[in-house]
Formats: sequence, structure tokens, C-alpha cells
Amino acid sequence: MPAITRLLFALAIAFLAAAPFLFGSFTITLLNYIAIYAMATLGLVLLTGVGGLTSFGQAAFVGIGAYATAWYTATQGGSPWIGLILSLAMTAIVATVLGAATLRLSGHFLPLSTIAWGIAIFFLFGNLDMLGRYSGLSGIPAIRIGQLSFEGTTAAYYFCWIVLGLAMLLCHNLLDSRQGRAIRALRGGTALVESLAINAFRMRLAVFVLGGVLAGLSGWLYAHVQRYVGPAPFDVRAGIELLLMALVGGAGQIVGAVIGSAIVTLIKNILQDVLPAFTRYSAQLEVVVFGVLFIVLLQKARGGVVLMIKRLLPRPKPRPVVDAPALPPRAHQQTAAQNPVLSVRNAVKRFGALVAVNDVSFEVRSGEVLGLIGPNGAGKSTLLNLITGVLKPNSGTIRFQGTDITTLPSRRIAAAGMARTFQHVKLRPNMTCIDNVMLGLYPRTSAGFLTGALRLDRKEEASARHEALRQLQRVGLGEKYGDLAGNLALGQQRLLEVARALAADPTLMILDEPAAGLRRLEKQTLSDLLRGLRAEGMTIVLVEHDMEFVMNLVDRIVVVDFGAKLAEGEPALIRADARVQEAYLGGVA
Ligand code: ADP
Ligand code: MG
Repeated sequence: MPAITRLLFALAIAFLAAAPFLFGSFTITLLNYIAIYAMATLGLVLLTGVGGLTSFGQAAFVGIGAYATAWYTATQGGSPWIGLILSLAMTAIVATVLGAATLRLSGHFLPLSTIAWGIAIFFLFGNLDMLGRYSGLSGIPAIRIGQLSFEGTTAAYYFCWIVLGLAMLLCHNLLDSRQGRAIRALRGGTALVESLAINAFRMRLAVFVLGGVLAGLSGWLYAHVQRYVGPAPFDVRAGIELLLMALVGGAGQIVGAVIGSAIVTLIKNILQDVLPAFTRYSAQLEVVVFGVLFIVLLQKARGGVVLMIKRLLPRPKPRPVVDAPALPPRAHQQTAAQNPVLSVRNAVKRFGALVAVNDVSFEVRSGEVLGLIGPNGAGKSTLLNLITGVLKPNSGTIRFQGTDITTLPSRRIAAAGMARTFQHVKLRPNMTCIDNVMLGLYPRTSAGFLTGALRLDRKEEASARHEALRQLQRVGLGEKYGDLAGNLALGQQRLLEVARALAADPTLMILDEPAAGLRRLEKQTLSDLLRGLRAEGMTIVLVEHDMEFVMNLVDRIVVVDFGAKLAEGEPALIRADARVQEAYLGGVA
């Protein structure tokens, strides 16, 4: 962290610690609410900012947390600490059920569904007798630890901010861990995520539940600080306000939760003070002002306040990669030399009337480098997508190491030891190069959510970082490890993808036009690298247009044209084949 950033943090913490000595109880109460909203916003930062799932229903989860503990402590006379468990459990359960039902929805349907259940839960609060209907539940006890009561405004203040600080720290740790990287990769399509042996749906569900649980924690704090719970603060309008806080602060920025909560709460407060002096319709006008604020924000400052400030601060130097014990290699299933690693039998793939892959069969033996060539649109990428499970064939079978993988989802195929690159590069441009490569290490590592959040994963992380750097160095990008992937030239991005595939320590590597857009020197590096891999016994299937590159590298070539296999054999034979020359070499080269 640069010195100035550290200074800002220290000042902020000093300010928060000193606030009760500087301000009156009105301001401290306001700060309490800022902390409570920041907790719910933190959930949205993870869900919407990092995970890319927009939810208007976050306030409903805050309500569930608040009502769970309110009901238990106020009407059953239970302890707030059991209430805490109830709050977290209830939000987790409801989030799991709602998430399982709605997270498969695509595009606009997911945010729309969050509005729907946000409204439904709000009306539930107002209509259940056990929750006091619209008059709510009162007589909620304050939180206490032994003799220490957090009843007073100042005591509640310290309690809320310490809990918030801890939650932020855990979330920060999580995002910088194995599962956190997977969460950060969710944004930008599932094809990449699934190709890394990550279950995208389960990961989305996990973020959704995590976001819900943070809202539940916020609700618990709210209930025991406010000591009264009614339905009004948990409607969809409140959900929109929370979303606004997440956006103002900085989508995807942990500190943004606090900044956004503070800015929106303060603006709201000022409006409530100022507007009544001008109009009788101040409550309605407040909504209008927020609407305008929302629009200005989306137009002018999508990144939010934190990103704006970050741009002014010096960019932190990339953390050095320290030496660490090597990660254990993947357990490779040994395929006897005479048995194929991959066998494609009569594969057919139709897109409507177009037969993109037409009855193609071939095998790849262990340790072999197979080139797949053919004119543009011949069906090469489609074939690779069938092999990697991105697409399912209409008929035919595909076997990998003797197992039928025809109908397996791509994450299972990846987990079985296949790694790939994409013709249209799929990276996470806002993640560093080393983090992108570490995504490839997902199937080789094991740290879970809690392990990551509590930093019990440091040994594995150090080894993973070290391994990722090693792979970056292999493709000639070692120097760039701390750069954002999006700042690389296209050729370098392709090499980065190769490093990510290598990181998985696969049995079979599938490369779709890895040399396209590479400069001569980069091509040479790649060619040397692939030759080295072949010497190590890695099996590779690659699509490539550069004939010189292919002919000098591969053991065997399969030529496809109009979806069908035209020829198969050693490079010299293919070069001499009249049909191939006519269909391909004559036409294109
Ligand atoms: P290649 O990689 O050999 O250039 P592709 O496999 O990308 O060829 O494409 C083969 C044919 O299938 C092309 O005619 C292409 O337009 C078509 N195609 C590929 N993907 C799809 C899809 N998802 N939907 C419809 N047509 C597709
Ligand atoms: Mg292609």
C-alpha cells in the first residue's frame, strides 16, 4: 500500500475512534446508521459490484435479519446472541432458496425477480400477526457481553463500527483468496469460469448467500440498536437506496460500502432538513432527488467515488512473489501409450440447418501434438467446443482418457484434466496477470471460503502465486505479473491464456489459434514452449492458421473443410495432399 493510502486509512480510523468525543449524540446516531447500512451495502458490493448480480431486494434480507432476532428476543425473551444465529441462519436459508430459484435467470430477468421477491417479503412483514403487522415489534433488548451493555448511543456506535470493520476485513481477505478470485471471475460470462473447473451457478449462489448473510447481520445490528422493528425500512425503495450506496461508493470496492453509505445517508439527512422549508411535498421530492442522483451517477461516474480517489493516488506496487514450496502436481491418470487420450467418434453438430461439424472422427494419442487446420468457418472451433463440453454434439461420442465425456458439463471435463484457451481471448481485464493465471490453478488448490476469509490459506496461496509466476515466466510475461490483463497487447493476452491453461497442469491442452496476433518473437517463444511441453509428454490439440508454425511443431494434422474431415496424417503427407492444397493451402495461403 502506498504511504498516502496508508495515511488516509489511519486518519479515517482515528476520526472514527475519536468521533464520540467530538460530536453530539445526534451525529453519533447518524454514524450508527451509516455503519448499519454500510454492512448491508457491503453485501451488495460483493453481489453486484464484484459478482455482477444486480439485486433490488437487499433491504428485504436486512428485514429478515432484523425480524428474526426481534421476534426471538422481544416476544420469546431470548438472548440477542441466539438471535444473531437466527438472523444469519434465516437470511442464509431464504437466500439459498431464492437464489436456487432465480440465479439461473439471465439478463434483466434476475434483477426483475429481485424486485418481485423484495416486494413479497416486505408485504409478508406487514401482514404476519407474529411480526406485529404494520405496527412492528418493540421492546427489543440491547446487545450485551457479560456486564458490558451496548445500550447507549456511544457504546452502540463502537460496537457497530467494530463489527463492520471486522466484516470488511474478512471480505477483503476473501476477495484476495482462491474462492474470491473465482467470484471476481464471475463477471463477464460463465464460459471461462466453467472451463476452469469452477461451478459458476454454485459460485453465484455462494455470493448471493454471502450478500444475504451480510444483510442479515446488518438487520441484527439494526434491531438491537433501534430497539424497534417495523416493515417500512425494508421495502424495495430501501433496496434501491442500498444499491445507490453501493454504486456511489464504488461498485466492487470494499471501502466503497462505507463511503457510499455515508454519502447517501448524509445527503438524505440534509434533504430532510432543507426540503421542508421550501415545500410540503418534501418526502416525494426526496425520491426525485435520489432518482436524479442515480441518473447522474450512471452517466458520469460509474466507477463511484472510491475509484475516482484511487485514480488520484499512486498505483500500489505489485506485491512481490516470494519463494514458496511447489504445489503438488495434478494426479495424472496414466494412459497407456497405445490408447488414445482423446477420441472423437462420428461427432455431428448442427446450428439450425448448418452442419458445423459433420461426422468427424479422430484420435489423439498420449504425448502427441495434433494440429487441426482448415479454412475459416470449417468448424474447428465448434469441434474444440464439443471436446471441451461448451457445446453438446447432436450425435457421436467423445472420450477422454477412456471416459465418455460427451454429455459432461465443461467444468467436469476441466476437472478431469483438460485445459483450454479460446479463439476470442477470455481473460478478466480488471484482474492482474498473476491473478488471471491463478484462476487456472483453481482445480489444483483447495482453500474454501472460510479458510480464505480467515487467512488460513497463506501457505497454499504463496505456493499458488509462486507457481503462477513460474507459468508467466514460461510464456515470457514474468515481468508483467502485476499489470492488469486488460492492459496487455492482444498477442500477450493470448500468451497469458496459455499460461493460465498451463497452470492447471492438464493432461490435455486445447489451444484455439494461440499464435494469432503474436509478433515474430512471441511466436518463437510460444513455439519453443509447446515443443518443450511435448518433450515433457503433454498432449496438445491446437488450431492454427500459420502453416509454418503448425508444420514445424505438430506430429499429426487433421484437416477439416465444411465441417467434415478432409484428410489426416503427418505434416509432410498433408502438405503433399492434392485435396488439401485445393481446399485450403491453395485458397488461403
Ligand atoms: P472455424 O473455427 O473453423 O473458423 P467455427 O467452428 O467457428 O469455424 O464455425 C463453423 C461454422 O459454424 C461457421 O459457419 C459458423 O458461422 C457456424 N457457427 C459457429 N458457432 C455458431 C453458433 N453458436 N450458432 C450458429 N452458428 C455457429
Ligand atoms: Mg475458429
